[in-house]
Parts: sequence; structure tokens; C-alpha cells
Amino acid sequence: MSKAGCIFCKIANKEIPAKIVFENNQILAFEDVRPQAPTHILIIPKQHIEKISDLTESDTGMIGGLIVAAKDIANKQAVEKSGYRIVLNCNKDAGQEVFHIHLHLLGGRKFTWPPG
Ligand code: 5GP
Ligand code: ZN
Repeated sequence: MSKAGCIFCKIANKEIPAKIVFENNQILAFEDVRPQAPTHILIIPKQHIEKISDLTESDTGMIGGLIVAAKDIANKQAVEKSGYRIVLNCNKDAGQEVFHIHLHLLGGRKFTWPPG
């Protein structure tokens, strides 16, 4: 399922290139084009869902799959010992720019709390 004009649907459909680090039937993970940390991977469902507030109970397995994929990628990128952060922005105040759900996996440096 794709939505015309959605950049992440285009990446999922291989219409535009990305540095892909993981893929299965439901999920794609690729390097962020403007990395904010040494490890900065975006993990998306292939299905177009704009934002967290659009999820329904039937999406529970898919969302869980994104987190398990993030954990596996963190292990592969060897940031599990030093630590990493998973970020999921929802809507304008959180800074969501691309309206196709995505987890940010950030690692390789120390992060501050509270976030900016
Ligand atoms: P958001 O602010 O919506 O949570 O995050 C969107 C992220 O997508 C940003 O970190 C931005 O750098 C990344 N991004 C936007 N366009 C592209 C693109 O065409 N390719 C890749 N790989 N990342 C993108
Ligand atoms: Zn999309």
C-alpha cells in the first residue's frame, strides 16, 4: 500500500535510493540522509500509515516488529553496550516532518535528557 508523493513509500518501493540495512515483508530500515548521530537508522512499515495517532489495535504486531527490528539493527551496529535511543515523533510539536510512521534508531554518542 503506498501513498502518492510519500518519500518513504517511494523508498519502500525502490523508486528512490536509500542505504538499506534491513528488510522483510513488512519492514524496511535505511540510513537517515541527515544523520544526527554516528548511527542513525530509520525503521518504517512498508504500509503507509501517517502517524502514531492513526494506529489501530490491528497494527500492534507491526509496531512491535519495528521495535524488534530496531533492537536487531542496534546489535548489528554494535551500539547495544554503549546504549542507543529509539525516537518516534508524532505530529508537528514533536518535529515530525515525514508523515509515514518511522522509528529513529540513534546511537554512537551520548544523548541528553530531557530532549530538546
Ligand atoms: P521526522 O522529523 O519526520 O521524525 O524525521 C524524518 C527523517 O527523515 C529526518 O531525520 C530526515 O533526515 C529523514 N529523511 C527525509 N527525507 C529523506 C530521504 O529522502 N532519505 C532518507 N534516507 N532520509 C530522509
Ligand atoms: Zn508512505
